[in-house]
Parts: sequence; C-alpha cells; structure tokens
Amino acid sequence: MPKFLTSVKNHLLAGVVFTVISIVYLNVVTVVKFYLAGGDFSRLPATDKVYAISQIVKGNSWPFALVGLLITLFLLIVFRRFHSLRSKVVYCHLGLFLILGLIIQTHQLVHSGLFPETKSFGFYVVALILALVAFAVYYLSSKAAFLILEKTNPSSKLYLIGITIAVIALIFLFKGQFGQATTSGGEGYNVLLLTVDTLRKDHLSYDGYFRPTSPYLDKFSQEGVSFENAYSTTSHTLPSLASIITAKYPMHHGVRNNAAYALADTNLTIAEVFRKHGFITGAIVENGALRPSRNFNQGFDYYGEAYYVSGLKYDIPGLIMLNKISKLFGERLFIYPGGEAYHSTNMAIRFLKKNNDKKFFCWVHYIDPHLPYAPPRGYDSKFSRREKRFAPDIFSIGKHLRKYELNLPPTEGVVEKMRALYDGDVLYNDHQIGRLLEALEDMNLTSKTLIVFSSDHGESLADHYYYVGHGRLVYNANIAVPLVIRFPDLRHKGIINEPVSNVNIVPTILDFMGWNQEVFPGGIDGVSLMPLIREGRRDYLPLVRSQSGVPWSFDPKLFDEMERGGVNPLRTVKAKLAVDTRYGMEASLREQIELRLRAVIKDNWKLIYVPVKDSTSPTGRRHYYELYDISNDWGERYDLKASEPEILRELKTEIESWCAADTGTIFADIIEIKQEDLEALKALGYIQ
Ligand SMILES: [Zn+2]
Repeated sequence: MPKFLTSVKNHLLAGVVFTVISIVYLNVVTVVKFYLAGGDFSRLPATDKVYAISQIVKGNSWPFALVGLLITLFLLIVFRRFHSLRSKVVYCHLGLFLILGLIIQTHQLVHSGLFPETKSFGFYVVALILALVAFAVYYLSSKAAFLILEKTNPSSKLYLIGITIAVIALIFLFKGQFGQATTSGGEGYNVLLLTVDTLRKDHLSYDGYFRPTSPYLDKFSQEGVSFENAYSTTSHTLPSLASIITAKYPMHHGVRNNAAYALADTNLTIAEVFRKHGFITGAIVENGALRPSRNFNQGFDYYGEAYYVSGLKYDIPGLIMLNKISKLFGERLFIYPGGEAYHSTNMAIRFLKKNNDKKFFCWVHYIDPHLPYAPPRGYDSKFSRREKRFAPDIFSIGKHLRKYELNLPPTEGVVEKMRALYDGDVLYNDHQIGRLLEALEDMNLTSKTLIVFSSDHGESLADHYYYVGHGRLVYNANIAVPLVIRFPDLRHKGIINEPVSNVNIVPTILDFMGWNQEVFPGGIDGVSLMPLIREGRRDYLPLVRSQSGVPWSFDPKLFDEMERGGVNPLRTVKAKLAVDTRYGMEASLREQIELRLRAVIKDNWKLIYVPVKDSTSPTGRRHYYELYDISNDWGERYDLKASEPEILRELKTEIESWCAADTGTIFADIIEIKQEDLEALKALGYIQ
C-alpha cells in the first residue's frame, strides 16, 4: 500500500483517483458501444457525431462522479469502523469501482448489437475478456496514479487534483458548439423557417392567452405580420409538414399519415428550390417521424437529426443508472429531463455560425409541446406546483396515449395540471427560440433574414372532450396554428384576419425572394400571401381546407339518437367511447381518404364534415355537418347550420367537390417501415 494512503484524509484521494478512472474508462466504453451499435450514430455527419459524443460525456460524467463520491464515503465509514481493513484501502476501492465498471460495461455489451443472443458462448467469452481488460485498466492506471502522487509533495498533490477537477469541469462546459462566427458576407436575404410541433396558437401569450407562455415570440410577433386565422392542412405531423415544405394539400403531396408514407421525389421541396438558387440549405428536426427514410430531407445539404441527440438520454449508461436508482424512490429524485429544444437550438446555431458567410435557408422543427408534457426543471413548476409533476400514466405517451386519447372523462384538476405542464413546455420552447433569435442577432443576420414561424397543428388538451393528443378532430384546438412572418427590414407589420393555410408559406417565401416563376411539377395549392400583406388584397385568396390526421368513425346509432333529440356525438365522452378506432394509420387508402373529418374555412365561416360508417346506408357512409362563425365563436360551441342554410349549402358544395377530387390517384411512396422507424413512432405515441 502506498505510504501516503495511511491517513484517513488521503482515502478521499483514492476515491478521486478511482472516480476519474471510472469516468474516463466508462465514457470510452460508451462511445465505442455507440460506434459498434451503428444505426443512427454511424449515419450522423462528423460535426453531429462530435456533438453527440459531447452529450454522452456530459450525461455519463456527473452520475459517475456522484456514484464515485458515494462509494468513497461508504468506504470511509467502513474504514472508521473496521480498522483492520485500513491496510486494504486500495483493494477495497478497486473492488467496488470495478463492480460499477463491470455492470456498466456488460450493459453496454448487451446493447451493442454484437450479440443478438446474449446467452451464447461467444457473449460470455467476450464479456470475460472485457472484464479482464477493465481490471487491467483500473489496476494499472490506479497504480500509476498512486506512484505519481506518492512521489510528489503535498502542494503538488493539490496541484494535480486541481488539474483533474479543471479537466472534468472543461468536459462539463463542453457545449459542442463549433464553427467560428465570421462577419456576415452573404448577399441578398436568408430565410429561417421555425416550426414547433403541436403548438396551439391560443396558448401563446401574444394571442391573448392568460399565462405568459411566450415572451420571445410576443416580441417577435410585434415585429412582423401575424396571422390571426392560420390553419394547418391537417392535424397530423407528417402530412402537415409536407404541406409546409411543398405548398400542397395532402391529396397532392401524397403523405397521408405518419406511419407508412414517405414524401415522394416527385415533390419539389422549398429546400430544393433554395439549393437550385445557390443557397446552402439546412434542417434541424426534433420529431423522430422525420427520419431520413421519410424523404423530407430532399434538397437539404445538412439534415440535423436533433431527435437522435436528445433521445440519447435513454441510452447513456450514467443517466440510465440514475434513473434506475430514482425508481427506488418513486421517481422523485430524477427522471429523464425534457428540454429537447436545447439541442435543436445548439445545432441550429452551429449551422448558422458555420454558414453565416453564405446565403442560407434553414428550417428548425422543434417538438417540446408534444407529449409527454415533461418540461425541464424550472419550467415544470412555472405554472403548476411541482409535487404533482410525476403523473406518467396520464402525461406520458406510448401505451397510455391510446387509452386516454378519447376515452377518459377529464376531471378538472387533471386537465388543469395537464395544461399547466403543456404551457411549461411552450415556455421552454419559446426561450430556446429566443436563444436562437439572439444568436442570429449576434451574428448580425437578423436584418438579412426573413423569419417565418408556425406550427404543424395544435393539441386537444381536453377541448371538445378530446383528452390528450391531436389528429382525430378538426376543431380549432387541433388545426389553428400560429403564423408570423418577420421581414428583414420590418417593412411590413401588423395583424391579418383573413383565413390562410400553411400551404401558403412556400409561395409567400418564394415571392419575397423574387422567385414567383418557380415551376412545381403538378402545380401547388398554396398562393403567395404577399399581395395580402402588401396591399391588403383578398380577392385572390382560396378557401382554406383542413382535415383530421387519422381515419375513424363514430357508431352511427349515436347519430340516430341525436336526431331524436340526443346529444351531439362529437361532444360527449360516452359517444367517443363508442368510436370505431380499428381504423387508424393502418387503414386502406380508400379509408384514409373517406373516413376523415374535413373542414373548409371561408371568411368567418367554418364548416366541419364528419363521415360516419353505416352499413345500413346504400353507400356505406352517412355524412354529418357542423357550421360555426369562428369570428364570434372561436371555440366552436354554437352550431349554426340550422340558421344559416345558404352558407351551409355553399360550403357543403365545397366539401363535396373536395371529396370527389380526393381520389387517391396521387400516391406517395409507401415505405417499408424499419424497426428504428417503428420505435420513433412508438416513442411519440403515433402507433402502439
Ligand atoms: Zn406534429
């Protein structure tokens, strides 16, 4: 035993030495495992790999440091009681730290993908060899460290400890942001498109929401043109985002749902247009449904898979270890933190820094308001009390979403809690958007960049007895979206009330860039909003269409009951319990088309169309409508179809001709879903 370890004080030094060895060794093991497991990691561009590694090191190091400290303290207590063990101090440390190392290392080996069958002879041999490697690393490096420490005088020891702590601190501070900002040299304007998944327009404070959920977006909206009545083409992620980047309705771009469709190459995306004009194009996407297999990366020079980096938290052994420990205490100590937007923002800032001397088009798709409603610390208690923060069976996703989506009667307390957590997510996302906008300003790019902000759809949050999630209905809670355009020189500002669709985003951007002549194969559905913004023209604006994301149908008997004076099936939990949800994303194309709720919006009128499967009807369907004056009744409470027969007739004709035109002759690429795609969809609750 080294002489200097004879004092109890110096036992701490042994703990520090073994903790440092563990942190370094286990980080190396983890990174090697990610390389071996391949998958997403091997596909990442080099800069994203470095960023991912920085997150791995960050996620591993502090839990290992914490556990190292606990082991050291435990041994100190043991040594005080059992003096005879004092002579074995190094071996005791070695033994306990090695056990920790072997558990982590074996766990990583199991998940490396090298052994499909872990109870095989090969697995045991490799595990044994790696155990010997770990022993050699721990033993030899600790011996070397003690030798150095023994030969140095006390002040040098402090010096060495200082250096070690400084190195660890540097690792913690390692932000993974690369690329030096240079002065902006690009000519003309850049475009930054910001979309937030599942962001309800009426939960933003600039829209009059009672909570201050969006300080940065409030300021941003005042600097631009804000659309009071903007709608997504559908309440479902992929079809809506496809509309945003192609300017087409789902029946024309062909992406019908999140599960089995990819965006066909025949679509011209906004990124392809910008690339053609010599721009560098980048996307940073946080929704796992946007994996490259979905082909939304068409035209992007850089496609940042932020969901991969934020999803790492479920794969980093240090965090897994802490989560397992926390479960012993009812998950009250630690859960995987939310805060995905942090990574998207980091990656977006890196893209902008790297390309700020070029002309760029950059799309950032955030996801924090999406289920689960789990804002990071500080934001979780912003609008509600923290002690009820852990309610995973209601606010998390996966198997629970389907159970609660439509069927659980909302109690007021639960709904209030759910909304408060959702609002915390919105606030957090707003802060991260603020960080991105500030970075843009620091690079002197704000005055050269057109910034467009919107979302892909809203969220039900128990409105209209739709409990959690989105996609089933077409009430405003699901399809109304924020839309703000900030012009580089603030030449246009104000609020516009005309109903508009997110298919108009691309033509508006292209019009601003002066590229009105762009030819899209098969044409587009969107129109430029610039004449509306510049001259207040409204005569050319097409009617706005939207549809639900998932085909489904009510029990037709409920509509019979309603006709006899019963309640509206769309407005009761009881009725929704009777819903036929067998037809989800796996429905046939015919049902994908026919069994969707649809809405058309013209001026202040909104007509909702509800198809119902009915075997007693000759066509197998019956049709139900609701008509609302959304300028006076945004919450859609008073159905006016009986008192407004002419409006009803006019808009019904629009729905009928839309249904007739939606023949399904335009197909997207139906892809064979890979296991990793399925997992991404399951994680978001889109499939079971
Ligand atoms: Zn979405």
